[in-house]
Amino acid sequence: MNYVTRGGVEFKGQVHFNDKGKPYYLEETHCKRCGGEGGSSRWAFTGWTCYECGGTGGHGFREVSLYTPEQVAKMEAARAKREAKKRAELEANRKAVLEAHGSLLARAEPFVDCGTEEDWQEKQQTYSPFIADIYRNAFRYGSLSDKQVEALERAVSQKEAYLAKINAPKGESPVGKCQVSGVIVSTRCQESVYGMQCKMLVRLGNNSTVWGTVPEALFGNGVTMDNLKGVEVQFWATFVRAEGETSFSFYKRPTKVERLSPAVVVEEPVQVERNSADEALDGFFSMVS
Ligand SMILES: [Zn+2]
Repeated sequence: MNYVTRGGVEFKGQVHFNDKGKPYYLEETHCKRCGGEGGSSRWAFTGWTCYECGGTGGHGFREVSLYTPEQVAKMEAARAKREAKKRAELEANRKAVLEAHGSLLARAEPFVDCGTEEDWQEKQQTYSPFIADIYRNAFRYGSLSDKQVEALERAVSQKEAYLAKINAPKGESPVGKCQVSGVIVSTRCQESVYGMQCKMLVRLGNNSTVWGTVPEALFGNGVTMDNLKGVEVQFWATFVRAEGETSFSFYKRPTKVERLSPAVVVEEPVQVERNSADEALDGFFSMVS
C-alpha cells in the first residue's frame, strides 16, 4: 500500500499504524528556542544552557497522519466543493446588491478612487474614504445594509452638490468698495515681516472668489483658524481684481464683518495608500464591466 501526506506527496519512509489502524509517520522535533542545540553562545553571559529544554535540545517525535491517494482526492474534492459554494453565494450576493442599488453605486463611483502616486492630489478633490468603504464592501462581499444605503445616498448627494458648486460657471468678482457674502473655502497662514499673516479664500454667490486677510472679528465662540473652512461670512472691503482674471479679486481693509454660520467640520482629504485589496477590486470591476 502506498501512502501520501495531506499535501498529496508520496511517503517513502517508515509507516506506523495507531490503535485504530490509521497510518502515520514520525517527524523529528526539537526545542524551538535553541533549535536542538541545547544552548547557544549568544546566552554566554547568563549561562550557555537553553532554559526552554534545560540543555537537552528537546529532541522528540510527533505523529503525522498519512492517507491513501483516494482519501486525499476525496478531501480535496470536498474542499473544492465548499469553496465553489462559498464563491457562488458571494456572487449571488453581489448580483443582488447590484440589481437593487446599481444606480446608487454608479453615482458613488467617482468618489471611491484615491488616485495613484501621480494623480492623488487631483483625486483628493473627489475622493471620500467613507463612500469608498461602503462601495468596496458592496462589491467585495455583496454586503449593503439599509442603513448603509441611506448613509451612502446622503454622502453621495453631498459630494455631488459640492462638485456642482465648484464646477459651476464663475461670475465676475467684485471691484472697488462693496459688501460681499460667501463661504470660506480655504485658509493659509504664513510668516511675514509683519508677523504671522493668515489669509482666506471666499467663494461668493456667483462662484467668483476673493482672497485677503482673515478678519479678527471672525474668531470666537469656538471658531479658530482650524475650522474656518465652510463658515459663511459677510463683510465690506475694497476689492481689486487680479491681473488677467475676471472672477478672482484681492480685498483690503475688511469692515463690518459678520459670521452668518457657525464653524462646520469639513471632511479633510485623506491620503490613502492603495493596497492589494484595491488591486483585487480593480480586477473584479474589469470582470463585471
Ligand atoms: Zn532548547
